[in-house]
Amino acid sequence: MMNSFWWGSKRSGGSGGINWMKWERLCKPKDFGGIAKDIVVKGSRIQIGSGQQVLIGNDPWLPNSECGFITTELHEEIKMAPVCNLMVPDQRRWDYDAVTDLFNPRDRDLILQIPLSTRRDLDLWLDVPGKVKNLLWRAANNVLPTTDNLRNRKIQVLPLCSVCNAYNESVIHILVDCGFAKSCWIASPVGYIGQTSSFLEWLGLIFSRCSKEDCDLAAMICWKIWAHRNDKVWNNRSGRVYQILNSAGHLLYQWQSLRKQAMFTDVDESSSVHGAVCWKRPHVGWVKCNVDAAVFSSQAMVGLGCVVRNSEGIFLTAKCDRFLGSFGAREAEAFGVREALSWLKKLQFPRVIIEIDCLQVFKALTENHSSPNGFGLIIEECRFLA
Ligand SMILES: [Zn+2]
Repeated sequence: MMNSFWWGSKRSGGSGGINWMKWERLCKPKDFGGIAKDIVVKGSRIQIGSGQQVLIGNDPWLPNSECGFITTELHEEIKMAPVCNLMVPDQRRWDYDAVTDLFNPRDRDLILQIPLSTRRDLDLWLDVPGKVKNLLWRAANNVLPTTDNLRNRKIQVLPLCSVCNAYNESVIHILVDCGFAKSCWIASPVGYIGQTSSFLEWLGLIFSRCSKEDCDLAAMICWKIWAHRNDKVWNNRSGRVYQILNSAGHLLYQWQSLRKQAMFTDVDESSSVHGAVCWKRPHVGWVKCNVDAAVFSSQAMVGLGCVVRNSEGIFLTAKCDRFLGSFGAREAEAFGVREALSWLKKLQFPRVIIEIDCLQVFKALTENHSSPNGFGLIIEECRFLA
């Protein structure tokens, strides 16, 4: 799901771990008394996703710890309509006019706070580890366990920031405005951009002002600042600004160079000039399977290799096999595609791109005619499996 509201925390099972509550549990009026008792419940999340499963007037979908229900009196028809009706069609953003017309100021403000496109932007923008994107996503949705957020959820903790002991600890404070964080930003290529009202606003400014490289670095610095804060809270250890910046830069470098290694170069036979072309990632939600076959005519054998990677270029699975048979190159390639298809079918990836480097097989598969020979037969089978 592209837009999901993460209320889950990694801290689970053990005693003393605090988990964010499921909205329903938090917001059903009859549960109010039980909030304190139920505060340590299994982490869960509510997903707005496309907004098709959540009903405007029926579900507690607003980001408010007191009451997640709409408080505006609504016509029955609107009440039972899914939330996606409040979004601009196909754009995953709120229809500002519709929201303003329909709801009272309290509801309106809460709805417009829900950042529908953040996750997608993060996915498109950032080339950083998933755990770092996840931290930013939780920070942008204001669900990090800062003392401010814990107190909003009626958990008894001192309000002061454990790093500076001078201000209340909100998400924007600990990650950006706290003295230590501020020093990190000032010393980094990202810079300190002045006070903003929320982390989401800060993130938006960074995305719009900084280069792609600096956005990646900013994400890593946030990750390290948060880790530093946790080290202070749990182990009472303090770090230094240069350590944060060095380790953020190092981690980013390691991550990105590992990902570059995962991409391999190949020879594009369909091109008249034989040159190296880079493996390209599929779009989000797709996986790509590269298939290659090799003919070992002296042994009357065909070797076959398939590699599946996701939109992040991350290796998912691979298959390697040998078959007896005297094939021509083009038959071997087609045979490879057939084997890959039946293998992929069992793996049940929802959307798969198959990439091959044999122009003849590509043409045969995409042009709608078949030839009455062995090659044509394999192609037919491929079409049947696809
Ligand atoms: Zn502070």
